[in-house]
Amino acid sequence: MKEYLRELPATHILQNDQRFIEIVKKRDIPLQKLTEWIQGEINEIRNLFLIGEWNEGTPSKELLGDLIFKKVERYASQFKKYHLKRVINGTGTILHTNLGRARLSKQAIEQIVLTAENYSNLEYDIEKGRRGSRSDTLEAVLKDVTGAEAAMAVNNNAAAVYLILRALAHNKEVIVSRGQLVEIGGSFRVSSIMEESGAKLVEVGTTNKTHLYDYEQAINEETAMIMKVHTSNFKTIGFTESVSTEQLVNLSSKHREVISYEDLGSGALYDFQKHGIGDEPVVSEVLRMGVDLVSFSGDKLLGGPQAGIIAGKKELINKLKKHQLARALRVDKMTMAALEATIKSYIQGGNTIKAIPTVRDILTSTDVIKNRVEQFINSLEKSTWYYEIQEGTSQIGGGTMPDIAIPTIVVALRHNKLNSQQVADCLRAKEPAVISRIKDDQVLLDFRTITEEELPILINCFRHFVT
Ligand SMILES: *Cc1c(COP(=O)(O)O)cnc(C)c1O
Repeated sequence: MKEYLRELPATHILQNDQRFIEIVKKRDIPLQKLTEWIQGEINEIRNLFLIGEWNEGTPSKELLGDLIFKKVERYASQFKKYHLKRVINGTGTILHTNLGRARLSKQAIEQIVLTAENYSNLEYDIEKGRRGSRSDTLEAVLKDVTGAEAAMAVNNNAAAVYLILRALAHNKEVIVSRGQLVEIGGSFRVSSIMEESGAKLVEVGTTNKTHLYDYEQAINEETAMIMKVHTSNFKTIGFTESVSTEQLVNLSSKHREVISYEDLGSGALYDFQKHGIGDEPVVSEVLRMGVDLVSFSGDKLLGGPQAGIIAGKKELINKLKKHQLARALRVDKMTMAALEATIKSYIQGGNTIKAIPTVRDILTSTDVIKNRVEQFINSLEKSTWYYEIQEGTSQIGGGTMPDIAIPTIVVALRHNKLNSQQVADCLRAKEPAVISRIKDDQVLLDFRTITEEELPILINCFRHFVT
């Protein structure tokens, strides 16, 4: 294939090609960028010739030019688009980890924009006219909403767990029930984080049963902490037993040096149990039982930005704040802005809480969902689509309340020419992409996670479906 090499067009020839000039004009792409792409393509083809893997027939200058411009045109069309973009979540999973977990409230977004666009008192005490403390902003609202003596926020809950273990249990022992050595989302493992932190994991009990005496027997001078981990994404059922938070608090209080710490995972600030949804304890309740420290995520049930919140005893939080790692794991001002606004919605209470999309979407009634379904169905081209309105279930997601299925209404769709996979592929190719589920060769759309504002976009997407 080496003889093909002489067919490779030279860069300067392609730069003078009409198509080059058109792309520059039409797409407003920097000349240098376009030249880079062309050179990249030429090199790639040259390489295929040299390693003998060219399999697109006998090349000519013309054919290669066409191929190169086709590729370059594709790069040019993507050049100004963002990789990270909005999608429409038709899966019904509210905290879909792959789709960015929690959507933020309007208030949180406004606060982000305001602090991003302007200077702020991030580390400035306006009253005294001098340097202030960065942690004050969040600590006040976090204390208020959790009832804790002290609180702080870090990058995410994984960081919170790491900081706590590293700062308070380095080279010491941490007792954890075998039934709680969880792995979350494939990248967070309690045992691995523990190892990384330099704390020594002491496993007690068995997978299905751990008794108080298991913990009791494991305590010695080396014990720094008893850690309870919320088994967020799985449930053990049947012959099981775990030790309650109260019992663990009681046990640790008998040993002055032993800290009780609960990794709550999701950390609900709203009582979903009240609506018959799950059995997630509210954070303030757990703290009221006397746990020394708790940590939880900002973007799970709480419905805020990605963050890890630590709340509990002042003496311990102070140690964490002073640790070098706290600086490395700290949250940025935009996260602070969003988190403060989200927490404020909880503090204000009443209907303000429903301004938080995660809470709102979990509580949305099937009547409301049915109404969205009807609007969608009415707009559907009936000669193209077969549809069925079905009762279904939505998941909370984000490794939260794995056993909870919230009743919902879904539309099951079939196209008169395309199979379900093709329909789902077409939906994902839309802008914004629509993410659906496939079941029994039907495409399912759950309208719990499709808002009123998103409906017109979705409807439009189906109106211009044929691609
Ligand atoms: C989700 C979760 C984590 C990790 O939290 P991120 O905020 O995703 O880092 C840690 N522990 C438990 C129990 C969890 O459920």
